[in-house]
Amino acid sequence: MPEAMRYLGITVITSALLATLFTAWSPASLDPREVVGRILDFAIGTDPTEGAPGLAEATQEIRIPRVGIIAGHSGPRPDSGLVDPGAICDDGLTELEINQAIADLVVQNLEAVDVIVDRLDEFDTDLDGYRASTLVSIHSDACFYINDQATGYKVSRAVDSAVPDLARRLATCVIDRYERATNLRFHRGSITQDMTQYHTFYEIHNQTPAVIIETGFLYLDREFLTREPEKVAKGISDGILCFLNNEPANVLGEIQ
Ligand SMILES: [Zn+2]
Repeated sequence: MPEAMRYLGITVITSALLATLFTAWSPASLDPREVVGRILDFAIGTDPTEGAPGLAEATQEIRIPRVGIIAGHSGPRPDSGLVDPGAICDDGLTELEINQAIADLVVQNLEAVDVIVDRLDEFDTDLDGYRASTLVSIHSDACFYINDQATGYKVSRAVDSAVPDLARRLATCVIDRYERATNLRFHRGSITQDMTQYHTFYEIHNQTPAVIIETGFLYLDREFLTREPEKVAKGISDGILCFLNNEPANVLGEIQ
């Protein structure tokens, strides 16, 4: 059969099959994923009894959101092979410990509502070309006295994101929900290039919206970050869910 005819045939048969299935389909009778799988199996000429792993994965990806969570500074650095714990307090408490504790709770919160979560290290090789509904990297700020105003959190998306609307919406959701959960204030003055041009933004797939959050300053906000990590984590996971579920969020002023 000429190729054109073959494809035309497939289209006609698929349409007929679709019409039949959707007429006969009642929600209890068939899983819609199975229906789509069977139609495509049929159209591309594979044996439906064998299943189609690629397709199963694809349909799952559409239905179940996938989120990447980075505990800032976790894992070895690629240049030295050593772990850089980030900010270090005088008594030995590290930013890495704080970030990991928060990231663990964020993962728990998201998995509890059936989000697929990838827990990633700071320089994880899986970040190369990483595709997901969203990615959030969790950090916290300096552990020495700067001034009395060095309290609060910051969120930044990539300045040059290829999906600026999505990245902006994600940042809006995280800021809105983080502030509600923690009562911390956005610390506008200290957003650096390390945030706006955070290295991970340039490693992941350019269609994956991403933000980095500095959850607070380890000096003035230490008590809150160490004693109430559940509130910190709730702010982040609620922000992610706000983005995934397209919930309303409102932030005054410009978002970086
Ligand atoms: Zn950090």
